Amino acid sequence: YRLFKFFLKHNHYLSHLKKLTMIPVECVIRNYAAGSLVRRLGVSEGQQLTPPTFELFLKNDALHDPMVNESLAVSFGWATAEQLAEMKRLTYKANEVLSALFDAAGMLLVDFKLEFGLFNGQIVLGDEFSPDGCRLWDKATRKKLDKDRFRQGLGGEAFRRLPQPDGGVALAGRVAAGAPIEALDRTGLWGRLLP
Ligand code: UDP
Repeated sequence: YRLFKFFLKHNHYLSHLKKLTMIPVECVIRNYAAGSLVRRLGVSEGQQLTPPTFELFLKNDALHDPMVNESLAVSFGWATAEQLAEMKRLTYKANEVLSALFDAAGMLLVDFKLEFGLFNGQIVLGDEFSPDGCRLWDKATRKKLDKDRFRQGLGGEAFRRLPQPDGGVALAGRVAAGAPIEALDRTGLWGRLLP
């Protein structure tokens, strides 16, 4: 176990994982209107949302992850009111941290999705935060830097791998047209992979 801990500390390619019992709802925060919000309400894309909104979606591929609310989540036993309150608090907190990080790197965090699970009865952030689960726009030009590039046919490619000086490869993610490279370069946030 000590050796394992040593490797965790000194090896960029190892992660310490916790198995969570996942809560089957996704938490979405929106700082600017985009995506399904625009389609649902017919509001204009890019409108700033003050304060940022919080939405819940049921994880159900067959139903295309329908929007739900806290009352439904409690009644169907997907989560308790207390668990939902904690998920909401943590998602807003993540929004503060991440918005500031991207802002400093010249990007707007438009919206993002987080998932949570239970570990020893505690709500814990699960899944991942990656270019696949958020919208990022260039702050100055509002150029889209996320997966919407290829969803909307704006050009790009599915994967980018950026060779690193130490022989590793930086993972760019399932996004397009250099967007993740920019995100990686500007924030250093994304993970790294062995070649
Ligand atoms: N999102 C996600 N997984 C999903 C649904 C949404 O990661 O299954 C993210 C998405 O990348 C965006 C935010 O949640 O950053 C809001 O997504 P939206 O409801 O606008 O749906 P979309 O238009 O992306 O399908």
